[in-house]
Amino acid sequence: MNIPHSQNKIYDVVIVGAGPVGLATAIGLRKRGIDNILVIDQARAFRQVGQVVDLLPNGLKALKYVDPNAYEAVKTASLTFVNSQQSDDEKTAKVTDKNPPKPSQEWVSRNLQGKMVRSFSLSFDAWFKSYGEGRVSISWYDLQTTLRKLLPEDQVKPNHRCINVVDEPESGCVRLDCISDASAEANPYAYWADGQKDHETLSPNLDSVSQQSVTKSFRAKIAVAADGINSTVRRVIYADSSSQTFAKPEYSGFAAIYCREVPSIPNELRSHLEEKFFAGSPILTVTNYELASERAFSKCPRILLINRQSIGYLLHLPVPLNSLQGKSGNDLINLALQELEKASFPDEIKQLVQLSPPENMLQRPYYIHRAAVDENMPLAWSAGRIILVGDAAHGMPPFMAQGANQGLEDAMTVTTLINNIAKANYWDHKQAIATAFKKYERLRRPFMEYIQEATLTQFPNSSDKQWQQYSQEVYTRNFDQVIAELTV
Ligand SMILES: Cc1cc2nc3c(=O)[nH]c(=O)nc-3n(C[C@H](O)[C@H](O)[C@H](O)COP(=O)(O)OP(=O)(O)OC[C@H]3O[C@@H](n4cnc5c(N)ncnc54)[C@H](O)[C@@H]3O)c2cc1C
Repeated sequence: MNIPHSQNKIYDVVIVGAGPVGLATAIGLRKRGIDNILVIDQARAFRQVGQVVDLLPNGLKALKYVDPNAYEAVKTASLTFVNSQQSDDEKTAKVTDKNPPKPSQEWVSRNLQGKMVRSFSLSFDAWFKSYGEGRVSISWYDLQTTLRKLLPEDQVKPNHRCINVVDEPESGCVRLDCISDASAEANPYAYWADGQKDHETLSPNLDSVSQQSVTKSFRAKIAVAADGINSTVRRVIYADSSSQTFAKPEYSGFAAIYCREVPSIPNELRSHLEEKFFAGSPILTVTNYELASERAFSKCPRILLINRQSIGYLLHLPVPLNSLQGKSGNDLINLALQELEKASFPDEIKQLVQLSPPENMLQRPYYIHRAAVDENMPLAWSAGRIILVGDAAHGMPPFMAQGANQGLEDAMTVTTLINNIAKANYWDHKQAIATAFKKYERLRRPFMEYIQEATLTQFPNSSDKQWQQYSQEVYTRNFDQVIAELTV
């Protein structure tokens, strides 16, 4: 495809993707004085999309390194949980009109009998006390908006879908080709679907993109691919390499069935659910712990019950991909009921699912870019002047709430390394860039292998000891040492 260059300008860094990781990277670069940068995003306009994301101590610590202002802004924009000091008796007290449940600051895990097995605080301060940094919940869109507003408007361009990246040795740059009027936003790997559309058929055939739809090409000394799990940049750079099998994400073996609201719940069922399960919690997980100890935690369904303005649920299932394909409405309800039945879930929960309005049902298979690769594999998170970060490098299911948090660790690492390149004025030093990218991969990949193992096997949920070990490993790390190593 012959694409006209509409710009002669050479950026130091172009970032593909204005998600949390791309934006955090841009903010970190500007904070370090690197402001000849641009962020492009395929979204035609920034709009309210995405789920709630928990930012945990490691992600918040990384964000503070990226830029303390960004950390403060995100904290301010996050959802807060009412501070209520409830005793256990209060939490399990019978709920009546005179005695409404108080908002709890805990996310509780219960067994099928409603007994609390584990709980963790939702309060920023409690996490701060344990791990030296807090936790916040924030919607993906609010996170994106908050970070985007910290950047000059003309440095974040929506409506620019990157369709190709080309290393241009003769100009010492990487060229990024973009279009702005693609007819469909195809992403079979990261969308909630109602089962009506076959998202694969929406994938654009890049070769057939007409000349009229091409808008611009940008050139940069370094391209940071933060374009999410369905990364185009990743696909392009792996297309003809020995890493070809890693170009597209792989089905993780897990999927979600989501019902945002069950509006008509008979009073009797509602009070059973509130007494036995919610007991004042806004969110809880129910699992068959007996089955989990017989099989493995990851082999059992888990249901997240959410009680904010109304009751909804998110069911995580270990199922083959084809069991979801084409399913919507009643078929999803039936699949959910069948899986809950197999795992002996109690009647109250099955009744709730049975009452789901078919039109409120969504499904989402979870995909993964595995971090664990063969030792002899060539580097897989960079190619020449291009580096992959966030979900584009290591997207995974959200069970340990680490996707964005790990992406923020990437942003911290990559901004530090690019800053080293800028300080030494090594923008044209291919070897220095290669060495920096190698460092990134050496540092980040082993940790991502650990996080993905925790996500897929759910081992931290198998006992208090495992949970504590995992929490220490992930949340209490001190990044001073990491930064010092990167700066040598
Ligand atoms: C249900 C659910 C719950 C989650 N909960 C948590 C949680 O609690 N904690 C947590 O840390 N993580 C969580 N995650 C994961 C988290 O949302 C992701 O890991 C995170 O958003 C990844 O950020 P990113 O910037 O790498 O990619 P994304 O957020 O996917 O952003 C990618 C951006 O790139 C743009 N883009 C894509 N392709 C192109 C292209 N070709 N050209 C230009 N732009 C492009 C997209 O429009 C988008 O803006 C959850 C995910 C799900 C699905």
